Amino acid sequence: MKKIEYPKNINLTDYSLENKKPKVFYGLSPEVIFCKKCAMSNQKPISTVEFKNTIEGKKTGINLNEDGICDPCIVNDKKNNEVDWELREKELKDLCDKYRRSDGKYDCIVPGSGGKDSFYASHILKTKYHMNPLTVAWAPNIFTEWGWKNFQSWIGSGQDNYLVTTNTRVKRLLTRLAVEKLLHPFQPFVLGQRIIPPKIAAMMDIKLIFYGENEAEYNNPAADFFKPKRNPKTWALNKNNSSDLKISGVPLDDLINYFGINKNELSSYLPLDENLMMEKELQVHYLGYYLKWDQQGKYYYAVKHGGFIPSPYRTPGTYSKYNSIDDKMDDLHFITTSTKYGVSRVNYDVSQEIRNGDISIEEGKALVKKYQYEFPTRFEDELYEYLSLPSEHYPEASKMFEEPAMNREYFLKLLDTFRSPHIWYKKDNQWLLRTTFY
Ligand SMILES: [Zn+2]
Repeated sequence: MKKIEYPKNINLTDYSLENKKPKVFYGLSPEVIFCKKCAMSNQKPISTVEFKNTIEGKKTGINLNEDGICDPCIVNDKKNNEVDWELREKELKDLCDKYRRSDGKYDCIVPGSGGKDSFYASHILKTKYHMNPLTVAWAPNIFTEWGWKNFQSWIGSGQDNYLVTTNTRVKRLLTRLAVEKLLHPFQPFVLGQRIIPPKIAAMMDIKLIFYGENEAEYNNPAADFFKPKRNPKTWALNKNNSSDLKISGVPLDDLINYFGINKNELSSYLPLDENLMMEKELQVHYLGYYLKWDQQGKYYYAVKHGGFIPSPYRTPGTYSKYNSIDDKMDDLHFITTSTKYGVSRVNYDVSQEIRNGDISIEEGKALVKKYQYEFPTRFEDELYEYLSLPSEHYPEASKMFEEPAMNREYFLKLLDTFRSPHIWYKKDNQWLLRTTFY
């Protein structure tokens, strides 16, 4: 495998406003279109099978229908006007009745980190539906102070928890590779988040796993909203189909042969064997299929029953204080989605709040204008240190990088290599979006 080079200079002529046929990266739609209702961009990709993900793979953006309305808005409409929530709750009660145990063992797993969604899910399953959940947290890269407090409050509200913390040295290295190869610092985290809970369920003979919100509410095709279960292909795999497995966009053999990682250190990131999934009758459900998911409602529920606290400060890059606040890595994560797809942190909050009727599209425009280019600096140095690979700790891996240390200059240069020219142009030394919804 070739050494990972210092990020190269990009050709700025690709990024001039005069260039009327700019290149398009990642197989995205060349035309940037925004949903007429919520202003979400068609460039935001839907979820992918992460353990096969490479940068060369073509992305599928959020679907917009012929009227220019995105799938999450269609889902939202059905959620408010069509779904019979009483019937759905009845389905949940039946499911719980079937699997509830009284033999002193746990009967379901609720994955999470103690954010408002996992708090709500585990608390309501235990108190209203009388289940015996085990909560499972896959440790964030770096807990924020308030994320850690919320995690403690979650356990303190009467929830047993397994906190899974894998070898941070390997996690840092995988995260660095995911940044270099995919510009996706959360990829190793997402893998563990999807894979660890079913693995623990298999070990402990627990059949049910409840995640919260269905991804169709903000991302995935509308049809998924009518399925109670998560697609097993995102967390389990047939052994015969495992030859092209990758973590952080790097083939497993390369991770082992060139980066000094032992195979066992990768086990938390590798999908569950499909045969084991069937043998243990594992099922991954969305509680959001059965109970109407409403973000602000979850927040107030978590405040009332668990002493959940928002971040004490406005989150840089947006105006909110309670979305995705557990992991310091979120700060870099949203910069990467902005760079690749032109979808900034504030866009997620604005689209969600427009859909929920909390703000108008005009207010959304003003908020996006105000925050979309804001670069988060509060945890920057700590995050770059996390992504750096000093030779005393990484004797083999550090040799695979032309520059093992990460800093702002490196990160900004790397960002530029991932900018799709059809989304960005550069003027007066500033990166600007070619197309905006305002
Ligand atoms: Zn929409």
